[in-house]
Amino acid sequence: MYCQVIVDIVHENVARAFTYAIPEEMKVSPGQRVAVPFGSREKEGYVLALSEETEYDPGKIRAVKRTLEDYPAILPPMMELAREMAEKNHCPLAETLRLMIPAEMRGGRIRIRTEEWIDLTDEERARAAWSAESRSRKRKAILEMLMTGHPRRLAEIRERVPDSREALNKLETAGLIIRTEQEILRRPGTSLKSGSGEWHQLTPEQEEALEEILPAMRKGEGRFLLHGVTGSGKTEVFLAAARKALEDGKKAIILVPEIALTPQMVSWFQARFGTGAAVIHSRLSAGERFDEWRRIRRGEARIIIGARSAVFAPAENLGLIVVDEEHETTYQSDHHPRYDAREVARSRCDREGATLILASATPSILSFAKARRGDYMLLEMPRRVQDRPMPEVQLVDMRTELETGNRSVLSRALSSALISCMQKGEQAMLLINRRGYHSFVSCRACGHVIKCPNCDVSMTCHVDEMHPEDGGPTQLQCHYCGHRTPIPEKCPSCGSRYIRYFGAGTQKVEGEVRKLLPGIRTARMDIDTTGGKDGHARILEQFRSGEARILIGTQMIAKGLDFPQVTLVGVVAADMTLNLPDYRSRERTFQLLTQVAGRAGRGRRPGQVIIQTYRPEDPVLKMAARQDYRAFFEAEIQRRRTSLYPPYTILARILIESPAAAEAEDAAAGLGQAVRAVLDARPEWKKKVLLISSEGPGIRMLRGMERRQILMKMLTGSETEDFCAWLAKAAEEPRAGCQICFEYNPTSMI
Ligand code: ADP
Ligand code: ZN
Ligand code: ZN
Repeated sequence: MYCQVIVDIVHENVARAFTYAIPEEMKVSPGQRVAVPFGSREKEGYVLALSEETEYDPGKIRAVKRTLEDYPAILPPMMELAREMAEKNHCPLAETLRLMIPAEMRGGRIRIRTEEWIDLTDEERARAAWSAESRSRKRKAILEMLMTGHPRRLAEIRERVPDSREALNKLETAGLIIRTEQEILRRPGTSLKSGSGEWHQLTPEQEEALEEILPAMRKGEGRFLLHGVTGSGKTEVFLAAARKALEDGKKAIILVPEIALTPQMVSWFQARFGTGAAVIHSRLSAGERFDEWRRIRRGEARIIIGARSAVFAPAENLGLIVVDEEHETTYQSDHHPRYDAREVARSRCDREGATLILASATPSILSFAKARRGDYMLLEMPRRVQDRPMPEVQLVDMRTELETGNRSVLSRALSSALISCMQKGEQAMLLINRRGYHSFVSCRACGHVIKCPNCDVSMTCHVDEMHPEDGGPTQLQCHYCGHRTPIPEKCPSCGSRYIRYFGAGTQKVEGEVRKLLPGIRTARMDIDTTGGKDGHARILEQFRSGEARILIGTQMIAKGLDFPQVTLVGVVAADMTLNLPDYRSRERTFQLLTQVAGRAGRGRRPGQVIIQTYRPEDPVLKMAARQDYRAFFEAEIQRRRTSLYPPYTILARILIESPAAAEAEDAAAGLGQAVRAVLDARPEWKKKVLLISSEGPGIRMLRGMERRQILMKMLTGSETEDFCAWLAKAAEEPRAGCQICFEYNPTSMI
């Protein structure tokens, strides 16, 4: 017997399968990982297929050394998925296969943890020995324990019969007992409070959605986009669908944007499904991650909750994949090999006969457009549960505040709403989409803005986290590379002492709130406060318990949190995301505002939302204030059609990075020429290309690397796909001193 093996090395020259012989006594199946000789070394590999014969000279074929696990780590449909992804990404199969197993599994870096068990060799003999035993009380006790139930954990025996080592040895030599090693799976502890385990009486809208979903699940089909306003009870629909999957003996995968920010989803699932649910997140230890993976692989965990990469969970007999908050950009991975978890989910469901539910209160423009085309069935839940009203949203014009002499980051309307919210004993959330104290520093005399030495971005002022009460910013930080410096006393450009601070961040807002409401506990949630294993959980718990009354944070606080005591939501500066140079900035702003507004009034008392802006007349802000998704979608899809943006076109870019500006320039110029030359030679490609630009990117230096790009806008079509394949190849050609990558519809345009 022979097998074809993908050797786990990512290199052009080994991007094909190698044939190895399978030794007589070895059992190997497709998807299994094996150790094989490769050159003079030993390498890990994945078995693609088996064959009886080979076209090579059998005398020259080397043999598989051993199997790495006694089961296939890659299930057959996952193997096909890896193949499809490799083809689409124009990358070696070894690279996409790596996505399917925990990183720690490669290179044998984690140990399986075992524990010792004691079993009886023969019950009859044991009983006889027990009756005859008169000399040792300990031996008698051990036999008695085992007779009432075996095998037993050695640890348990040791606990009940202290100092039993010698007695156990004697029993073993007498052939009465045997010791065995068994694997144990590490379970991640959870710091989350469990939710209620009760099943709600479904609302009519939840019922209606399930009336479409459940029959589709029975048939192993169905692609749904569940568009339900914030607070419409989407989670309950997922829970019911997951229960159905279990009843049918199938598995369900529930994807969330980020586990740490969706603790409630996790606790709801754990409360209803107990240990049948596995949670995969990035803060698991290597051992825990590996063990959760094996628990899923063995079929012990039947519901899998996790972020993006959980879409690769090795669940056999899959019945359902849910992608909650499907509009979130975290579903797109920008590490190599790139993937979009929504597309992978779709592909898995098609291949494995499972049902797909994408859900959001603010679906991505792309997904909603697909639903309108009929690719997904649209399910709508336009009302909140129990007829709770949607929050009332007010836009506040910050220009008027300035005119009337209010220089605070809080408008009068927001200040008084905060005061009255606190007087009523309720809770509030404030969103400011920038961390730190001030967003930038500039010289009043010459206008010089202090920038990071490694990046082409302005530095942000921060207050020392350890001594926040000292007041005023103490340090400058770069949010891209982490560079820190003290605040200069003089302008580095002209020497003037008139340094001025602009723009507010979370620290500044927190400072002002404390001044406005002394004695009210606030909590701040941003990257600076959520480090460590339980950073998020600690802050969310402070807020949930009511210990903190006002939660101030970046977009982290907008994601799916359900705090019934929150009646006021304030958005401190709505214009911030709207001004980003990206064709998606309107979509992101609308989503962010609608989502954060949706955190208000989820309990019995109605919610109020105040959005501060310098542009209250902006149509996007107005539609967000009305929480009118349909109107926004219609306007945005129209704009994309007329301005030729995705989904009507494809954006692609080649990004060139180098420590030396000249090298980056040269490479960009060379690649630009090559692109133009190939287009001249291939008119069928050229007619698809609407634009080629060598301008930008938005940030021309990042982490000490000079960056240049070639940006292209193209019409969709098979010729475009061919051209993109050519671009991906061209980007792979090495150029001295440069890192080059090809990005198809890049997640970020900076
Ligand atoms: P969404 O994700 O759509 O914003 P959630 O799933 O978080 O909404 O539900 C909002 C709130 O309504 C939660 O507190 C949830 O427990 C509650 N809820 C959901 N369905 C029901 C129901 N059928 N009856 C009563 N309460 C419900
Ligand atoms: Zn100056
Ligand atoms: Zn920097």
